[in-house]
Amino acid sequence: MGIIKTKGLIISESKMGDFDKMVTILTPSGKIGCAAKGARRPKSLLMAGTQFFCFGEYVIFKGNNSYSINSCDTIEVFYNLRMDLDKLNYATEICKTVDMVTYENQNTYRILQLLSNTLYIMSETDKNLELVESIFRIRLLCLLGFMPRVDRCVNCGLNTDITFFSIAGDGFKCINCGRIDKSAITVSPTTVDAIRYIISAPARKIFSFDLAEEYIREISLVSKVYLKDKIELQ
Ligand SMILES: [Zn+2]
Repeated sequence: MGIIKTKGLIISESKMGDFDKMVTILTPSGKIGCAAKGARRPKSLLMAGTQFFCFGEYVIFKGNNSYSINSCDTIEVFYNLRMDLDKLNYATEICKTVDMVTYENQNTYRILQLLSNTLYIMSETDKNLELVESIFRIRLLCLLGFMPRVDRCVNCGLNTDITFFSIAGDGFKCINCGRIDKSAITVSPTTVDAIRYIISAPARKIFSFDLAEEYIREISLVSKVYLKDKIELQ
């Protein structure tokens, strides 16, 4: 029992009873499932801060087996995510992924930082949503301990003629090794550079580039298949 004061971001919400809701808050130290009593009553002080995607400061009461929100102050509501159906769909998918890979009592400081930066870019810019989602997935995989090996061919060590990303090999393969790997996805040199950049750039710079549609399709496929492969293993 006790009071917890923490920053966090609402990664899921569901209705409970007539006026209450359940929310999942991703905090810097894991996710917490919380009841928000009366949050659906008109004029409730919890209404704004318990909306999907909201980033805020929460005061949470910890009972024996449950948590409930006492009060909250909103910091960022990412309003535009709810005004544009495409943005809403991408942001929802990203929060769902974060929900799948996080637990209670876990250091999630950097995942929370990645999530809030990703939602900010989606909400406040016109950057290609598929590219933003791909960058998010690759960085998330790195934070979860699945950083692919991208400096040279994971099989023979060659650092020229990199033309494949191998899902089974956890990284790039050259033209000869990738050709006989059933899990290998073809990648152009531009996509190779982009993946290397995403992995090595400082957190605040990961979204600072653009790609043509054809390369976005490649990076989206690689990140989607690789994430699915790793998350299903857990
Ligand atoms: Zn090779």
